Amino acid sequence: LVVLSGVNKHFGDLHVLKDIDLTVHRGEVVIVIGPSGSGKSTLCRTINRLETYESGSISIDGKPLPEEGAELAKLRADVGMVFQSFNLFAHKTILENVTLGPIKVRKQSKAEAEKRAMELLARVGVDHQASKYPAQLSGGQQQRVAIARSLAMDPKVMLFDEPTSALDPEMITEVLDVMTSLAKEGMTMVVVTHEMGFANKAADRVVFMADGAILEQGTPQEFFNHPKTDRAKDFLGKIL
Ligand code: ATP
Ligand code: MG
Repeated sequence: LVVLSGVNKHFGDLHVLKDIDLTVHRGEVVIVIGPSGSGKSTLCRTINRLETYESGSISIDGKPLPEEGAELAKLRADVGMVFQSFNLFAHKTILENVTLGPIKVRKQSKAEAEKRAMELLARVGVDHQASKYPAQLSGGQQQRVAIARSLAMDPKVMLFDEPTSALDPEMITEVLDVMTSLAKEGMTMVVVTHEMGFANKAADRVVFMADGAILEQGTPQEFFNHPKTDRAKDFLGKIL
């Protein structure tokens, strides 16, 4: 569903993505882990065309990433992204946050978008907060709204960039539970996270990045129990 082939990107002199080859199949959950600065966020942002790249190719569902305009807006709807900072619109209600994209990009009627938004908010457990503003919600609730907002676009794939790392410990589980249920329902997901329990439970594949390159990948069992490279052993020694 998502195919990256020989993707390279620089920030000035810094070679931040080095010949990245990565295929994510429909329904697959791929966890990306690696040291700080290894290029994990850049990888996610590049898949969503929030960053440009210099060489190689990226396609979603067989189509190359569009450059601009309406096609790009559609790509952003097809490729949902959830960030560490929840990025909700502060001056819009929870309900408006979720209905905005479907109305503007997917051309749904207000009534239709609101009905679906309420279903999704119920699903992530915040439907009773629909008329509040983001600042009135806890971090965990805001992040669940951010997930509902992405889902409202009926994305083909969801990218999560450290979705729980800004949250207090007691709120992490509620967000991971939503993600685990999405994974079980067959959503295609790319998740940057250091939550190893979640990775073990939900991942089909773990991809290990260091210095802008994918050094190894495998099932969670393979990777966590039998890392092949010294970099990965070193990294796991520090976080486990
Ligand atoms: P972390 O685990 O800390 O989130 P990461 O793996 O997500 O790290 P990236 O954010 O992708 O790493 O950054 C990769 C490298 O690119 C880092 O060295 C970072 O300093 C650099 N970088 C990221 N964004 C930019 C930018 N907009 N301009 C210049 N350099 C950048
Ligand atoms: Mg990052």
